[in-house]
Amino acid sequence: MSNNQSLLARRKAAVPAGAASAYTIFAARAEGSQVWDADGKQYIDFAAGIAVMNVGHHHPKVTAAVTQQLGHYAHVAYPVQAYEPYIAVCERLNEAAPIADATSVLFTTGAEATENAVKIARIATGRPGIIAFTGSFHGRTNLALSLTGKVAPLRANYPHFQPGVFHVPFPVPAHGMSEEDSLKALDYLFKSSISPEQVAGIIIEPVQGEGGYYQAPVAFVRRLREICDQHGILLIADEIQSGFARTGRFFAIEHAEVEPDLIAVGKAIGGGLPLAGLIGKRSIMDTTQPGSLGGTYAGNPLSCAAALAVFDLIEEENLLQRSVSVGDKLKIELEKFAARNDVVPVGAIRGVGSMVAFEIFKDDGETPDPDATKALANRAVAEGLLVLPCGFWGNTIRIAPALTITDEDLEEGVARLARALLSDSVSK
Ligand code: PMP
Repeated sequence: MSNNQSLLARRKAAVPAGAASAYTIFAARAEGSQVWDADGKQYIDFAAGIAVMNVGHHHPKVTAAVTQQLGHYAHVAYPVQAYEPYIAVCERLNEAAPIADATSVLFTTGAEATENAVKIARIATGRPGIIAFTGSFHGRTNLALSLTGKVAPLRANYPHFQPGVFHVPFPVPAHGMSEEDSLKALDYLFKSSISPEQVAGIIIEPVQGEGGYYQAPVAFVRRLREICDQHGILLIADEIQSGFARTGRFFAIEHAEVEPDLIAVGKAIGGGLPLAGLIGKRSIMDTTQPGSLGGTYAGNPLSCAAALAVFDLIEEENLLQRSVSVGDKLKIELEKFAARNDVVPVGAIRGVGSMVAFEIFKDDGETPDPDATKALANRAVAEGLLVLPCGFWGNTIRIAPALTITDEDLEEGVARLARALLSDSVSK
């Protein structure tokens, strides 16, 4: 029988170091917000497959939809012949997006969605430049990696970036970067490096994911929209982590009441099956040549069937509201930890909907402590809780549970986090 130890040995022998996992446990089964490893140990899942399983693991409606589709056909290739589930997903995306007269195209991974956003922005405007933000994450493929605004570990020994991509500081006042500073940096970029008339698009995560769950201030997003309008630049929202009810709105950019030109989606859309997409204004999307968008597996029928179930569940199970109430409960509990002096100090508590995070600092209360953060995440796993470290400084713990999490699992997860936080002060 496989167990964690034997699987770890096999992984080390068969898989390169670059394909790393945060933890050395191996999943065997998952249900709702609970995961069991190969040793039979149960975990409360506050990571949800990196904000993918918004409707929870093994949801009966998703499983039924995929099984039914499997009975019809698994793959026929959209480039050969289209099929209804693909069209239906695009219709639902067009309806959900805060974009007037939208059309959509499907892909398989988030990186493909961001790469194609850049491609379409360049085709539609005839311009080369793309502006992204520090702390951003847009994927691991070559262009997506060039957009990504964080060196370690992804760009560290791979400095082969695509030309035409520029980075501007993402406004995080706690990091000494105000909205005004960011806008000033953008202005400087327009003077020093690329004229705004040569910029095709500005790509932004309305709430940064891997960067540490920082929300772009509403006024900042609105100002970006004005700057884009002034210079004919397209505003691209990367909602791959923040979309699909994760922040209490279908898309996080809705908090700013701003209409982007393009929206990249991925992760939660497929309910665990690989699916991504790009929604955009018809006039922009239609500048592409027939056959230039897609891929062999893009918009796979099984993934589309799962996505249609996810759309239904967001409505049927009121996941927009649930996202807010779960996030509020988590923030209240984190504030209680922050007020205690017998646990690891929890700071910089923040969150939009169920995209919740906190940071771990050194004893001075302000120097980020990535080592202590990693140690805390490992202790959480030992206590039976899955959380994910992230952040520009590597000292953020993010909490992104399924939006369907039960009150009991939420409370049990918080109790296990408390034990993980406590055991550090005990061991100090
Ligand atoms: N954009 C964002 C905001 C993401 O969080 C991610 C994945 N973490 C990606 C793009 C890339 O998606 P994928 O891993 O599916 O290529």
